[in-house]
Order: sequence, then structure tokens, then C-alpha cells
Amino acid sequence: MTQPIREIEAVGFLSDGKAKGHLIGGRQVPSQSGRVFDTFNPANGKRLTQLSEGSAADVDAAVRVARAAFEGPWSRWTPYQRQSLLVKIRDLIEANFDELAMIETLDMGAPLSRTKNLKGPILQMIMYFSSQTMGASGETLGNSLPGNVTTMTIKAPVGVVGGIIPWNGPLISQWWILGAALATGCTVVMKPAEDASLSVLRVVELLHEAGMPEGVVNVVTGFGAEAGEALARHPDVDRVAFTGSTVTGRKIVEASAVNMKKLQLELGGKSPDIVFADADLDKAVPGAAMAVFTNSGQVCYAGTRLFVQRSIQEEFTARLAEFSKTLRVGDPLDANVQLGPLISQKQLDRVLGYVEGAPGEGAKLASGGARVGGDLSSGYFVEPTIFTDVTNSMRIAREEIFGPVISVIPFDTAEDVLTMANDTEYGLGGAVWSRDMSTALKMVHGLHSGTVWVNCYGMVDPNVGFGGIKMSGYGVKGSRNHIDAYLYAKSVYIAG
Ligand code: NAD
Repeated sequence: MTQPIREIEAVGFLSDGKAKGHLIGGRQVPSQSGRVFDTFNPANGKRLTQLSEGSAADVDAAVRVARAAFEGPWSRWTPYQRQSLLVKIRDLIEANFDELAMIETLDMGAPLSRTKNLKGPILQMIMYFSSQTMGASGETLGNSLPGNVTTMTIKAPVGVVGGIIPWNGPLISQWWILGAALATGCTVVMKPAEDASLSVLRVVELLHEAGMPEGVVNVVTGFGAEAGEALARHPDVDRVAFTGSTVTGRKIVEASAVNMKKLQLELGGKSPDIVFADADLDKAVPGAAMAVFTNSGQVCYAGTRLFVQRSIQEEFTARLAEFSKTLRVGDPLDANVQLGPLISQKQLDRVLGYVEGAPGEGAKLASGGARVGGDLSSGYFVEPTIFTDVTNSMRIAREEIFGPVISVIPFDTAEDVLTMANDTEYGLGGAVWSRDMSTALKMVHGLHSGTVWVNCYGMVDPNVGFGGIKMSGYGVKGSRNHIDAYLYAKSVYIAG
């Protein structure tokens, strides 16, 4: 079912029609080169506004400001001061959330039904980070050495953090960096994705409104190969928190070697979603569908390799196809729509390339498989698509598609499915659906991935954390380990 596109609704933030500057030291600043680029609404291909195209010189200016802010009073704010600021930020984000959700929807196409629902998780993240400001404390070891020596560790913020994030959910993903930096006393230069920068610009305006000192968080907009590369390479950036593709992650590792930056890499995935014959299919069918179709498949941990036990394969795929046909694809501003467009023509071509190539490798199309036309033909919409008879060696089962495409792969035994599930270069998410806890636990222990969900998919609690292994990266978002990564332990010896 499709819905027609409505005209873009005016948003205060966009209504002045002016090109947006970088945000450096709390002020909008144009690029030193004077260059700008267009940013589009992927639902209809219309230009939303123009953004400043950042260069190495703009990145350098932002890093200098971030360094000065770090050396200023900010890194000596008490934990109570940082906590109060985060609480004010939480309130301001809550009060402005409708506008933020609208900006994100217009900018990257996620349905308003999804972006509005991010309010709870984002406020929860900010509260989590506000609760962690007190944790930046070290240990006192007393007289652990001979003589009258007191030894201790002090936890100190690492310094300037370069945050580089993708387009598939900046409204939420920026908080993993902002929250940790604000909780620990670091400063930040953010480089959002060229296709979806607007929610980051608006959020950082709100941070200043809440009382964050100027220069603590700065934003340089622009392209990865220029602004992103300059940030990853900059010798005065201490840490890079990168979320994006594995291909770019490798470039970040190389660029960061200049000054041995600490790195956090949240990269791609090809997560297994495993359904045993004894699963509650009333839950597993919609669960497995939305593990991929949420955000039109543009989710790093999407359960794109759907392993279904052979005895229920026919029934399960029939129900999956039936369910996917009930999903409403269309105008992301329509409250009833569940799937919006892909982010860009480039992403559309990429996804359709995989879909068109799959039958040649032997996969059978069970549902979807086409670009959506009619009223939606000026946007980048793709039908929820399901392939059956997929083997784990086909391209659609090995490469990250980042679109609404499920590959159903049959399996016989728990041992077989573990071998296939782990036969991938990635290790991000994974799930098992079974009523038998011992089967579920076998998968929990056997899967090589950073997260495993049992009889559910995609939950993330900032207290617990989320991260990948293998080519999905390293470092964790959320949990005490995340906070610790923004701090270093200074060892102190005091001879009495
Ligand atoms: P991408 O790697 O193309 O871009 C991500 C960011 O890196 C953008 O801001 C881009 O401008 C920048 N960039 C590009 N080239 C760069 C370079 N040479 N140096 C520095 N920065 C550079 O990724 P994308 O297509 O925007 O996003 C999709 C990818 O992100 C998928 O692979 C997805 O799995 C991954 N992702 C991972 C997670 C996670 O938590 N593991 C979360 C969301 C998305």
C-alpha cells in the first residue's frame, strides 16, 4: 500500500531559506572557501536547503576552538555542573522534540512515526549520560609501595573528540558521542554525513541554549573525503568516534595513525536472525520482518540473513511475505506510514543492483523486488523485498545491502546454523527465536557477534551497551566501558 507525498511542511529551522553555516564556537560560520552544497528531501528529491562545504581549513578552525574550550574551564567543571547541564539539555530536547523529529524525517526520510518514537530512547540516553558524570573518578590505593607513599589513579577527559557519523539515524546516533563527551568533560568536533546533517546542527544549537559553553561542541558539515578525512587526520584530535561503513572505517584507522588517536569504530553488519521450528511464530514473523524493514533496512544491525529451520520454511516465508504486504510505504510525514524512502539515488541504485542480481545466483523472489512508482516516483522508495532459496555464499547473503531486503536461508540443525551464521566477516548483531531456552542459550554462546537478542530484535539499553567485533568494529556505545573510553587514568605517586 502506498501513500501520496504531501508538500514539505515548514519547519522554523529551515524557514529562513538561507544556507546553513558550520557551528564553531557557538556561532554559524560559512566555509572559508565559500563553497556550499545542496541537501535534499529523499521522499521527493526536492532541495531542502544548502550546507557549508567544509575543508581542512574549516576543520582546523573548529579543532582549535574545541581545544581552547577544553583547556578553558570546561574540563574542570565539576561532575555536578555537567550533570545539571545534561538535565537542562534533556528538558530542552524534550520540549523541542517534535521539531527535531520533523527535521530528521525531511532530511533522511525515516517516517515521522519512527522519528517521533525516538523521543523516549534519546531522553533515556541523555539521562543515562547525566548519571555517569560522577563516575569519572579513579582509585586510591593507599600504601601499596614501601615507604610513606600514597598511590592513586585520577580519571581525566581524553581531550578533543572527532565525531563522524552516517546518515541513517543522526538524530539518535549523535547522542552516543555528545552524551559521553558532555558527561566526561571532553570537547567535540562533529562531522555529520553530507546527506543528513540538519538534526545535528539543530541539536547543537539547543545545547548552547541550555548553557553549554561555546566551543565545547562544534559542527563542520561537508563531505567525507575532505572534511571527514581532515578530522580523522588532524594532529590535535585525541579520539575519533566513527560510525559508518567498514570501507570508510579502514580509512579512518589509517588517517588516525598520524598521532595515534584512540578510536571507536561502529561499522557495518550482516546480522543473522535465526528462527527455530518451535518459535512463537506470531511474534517471530513480525519480529523478523521489522528486524530488516525498520528504517527501510538502513540499520547497521538489521537481521538481513534470516535463517529459518527447514521444517517451517514454507509456512514461515508465506507468513512473512503476507506480513510485508501489509506494510505501508509512502510519505514519511504521514502518521500511518511505516517505510519511507532510501536516502539517495545512489543508495537506491545500490539496493536495486543487489535485488536485480539475486535471481541470477539462484535466489527466488517471494515478495517485493521493485522501486515504488506512481505518486512516489520522485522519491527513492523500494518495496519490502524477500528472497528465499538463498545460500550463505550468495552476494545478497554476504554483503551489506542497507535496504529493505531479507534473504531467507534454510537450515536443519543448531550446529549447521551456527556454522553458517558465523561464516561472515561481520559481527554486529544477531537473534534467535525459540521457546526452548537451552537452544536459545546455545546460540547466545555460539554466535560471534557483539549483541544477541532472544525472542526480540533491536533493543539497545545505554546501560548495557552495543558494539561490534570482527569487521563490524570495536569499542562499545553505552555502558561504563563507553564512558571509560572518553577518560584516561593518570597514575599518581605521592611520597610523604
Ligand atoms: P560512510 O562510511 O560512507 O559514511 C559515514 C561517515 O563517514 C559520513 O559522515 C561520511 O561523510 C564520512 N566519511 C566518508 N569517507 C570518509 C573518509 N575518507 N574519512 C573520514 N570520514 C569519511 O557510511 P554511510 O553510507 O553514511 O552509512 C552507512 C554505514 O554505516 C553502513 O555500513 C552501516 O552499517 C554503518 N552503521 C553502523 C552503525 C553501528 O553502530 N555499527 C550504526 C549506523 C550505521
